[in-house]
Amino acid sequence: MKARNQTLFFVALLCLAGGCQSPKLAVEGDPMLSVNTLIDAPDDYAARRVGTDAYPIPPYAKFLKRVKICLNPGHGGDADQRGFKRGPTGVREAEMNLRVAQYLRDFLVACEADVMMTRDDDILLTYEERAAIANDWGADLFVSLHHNAIDNKPEVNYTTVWYHGEVAYRPSNLDLARYLCEGLYDALALPRITDVPLKSDNLMYKDGFAVLRHAKVTAALCESSFFTHPDEEQRLRQPEYNLREAYGLFIGLARYAAAGLPRARLIASPGESLPANGGAGEGSETNADSATMTPTQLNKSAIVFELDDGLRSRKAWGHARNMILPDTITVRIDGERVPHEFHDDGSRYLLTVEPSVALPSGPHQIEVQFENMNKNSVLHPYFTVEVDGR
Ligand SMILES: [Zn+2]
Repeated sequence: MKARNQTLFFVALLCLAGGCQSPKLAVEGDPMLSVNTLIDAPDDYAARRVGTDAYPIPPYAKFLKRVKICLNPGHGGDADQRGFKRGPTGVREAEMNLRVAQYLRDFLVACEADVMMTRDDDILLTYEERAAIANDWGADLFVSLHHNAIDNKPEVNYTTVWYHGEVAYRPSNLDLARYLCEGLYDALALPRITDVPLKSDNLMYKDGFAVLRHAKVTAALCESSFFTHPDEEQRLRQPEYNLREAYGLFIGLARYAAAGLPRARLIASPGESLPANGGAGEGSETNADSATMTPTQLNKSAIVFELDDGLRSRKAWGHARNMILPDTITVRIDGERVPHEFHDDGSRYLLTVEPSVALPSGPHQIEVQFENMNKNSVLHPYFTVEVDGR
């Protein structure tokens, strides 16, 4: 904030001295090169408002606990590029992206989500570096925060949320995008919408957005509103409006988590026998039916996954019922769809794949997809199994 104040002071001083026309001053006071273009707010602005009547934490937000969320505020370190990603009066996108991300972090941390930021300052990062932060950390969700721009159409202002490639590229990307978009719709209440707000990044670039292309985790990119819209640009300078947007994103993520985040866990690779407890973690329930799946009955080439619908572990009434849509289960080995067996004993779900021909030695990629009863797809669907042919 200091730099802006110094610049304003300098400009005011020179204007008072009647020097506003001097070429040097034009550069010093150039709004298209300015920094700290948002209206100042104390560091604890959001933290003091989280959970108040205006920004309540809904009870279902408890399901965000321990979800690993990487927030990526777009751009940064780019103020010296004259006019780069700025609104009509020079408000910088990099700054609004960062503040929305910081406010969103405050909401998420209040719900005990694990949050990582790709940047917490006005610094330059490559798209690869941003994605690598999420990938290396093993994020469950990777959310890129942007605001949109369009040339010569100042009246345009609506929300879009972007996914990578084709719709089937990673189904969970669409879940994340959909929930974020709905949260933004509620919070911003922009008068205009685009009729299909989830967009493929292939519409913009043949290979999509680099940050989404390099993401190996569930990822989406928000273009929450247009900073080229003159009124929206002024709103985006205000801490209150940034907080409202962050709250919408938070509510979207909380609804997503509440609907269950499905996961799969590899519990037996080819050549391995199923652990005596079926690979179930400590304290998992066993049931007489689970004896139907024992190591001795499994072919040596079998690959076994335990599925988690993201809901059953809550032990709600009816938790023993199947909450996975059976027809949505698909397994692919090295991209080829293969048959599977699905077994639910009321306490856990097992998915078994027995390749009809032995897999060649070496690494193989296995993709496991399914939807839970709320139509949410698997967060981390890719596994590598090593086949030892000796
Ligand atoms: Zn952007």
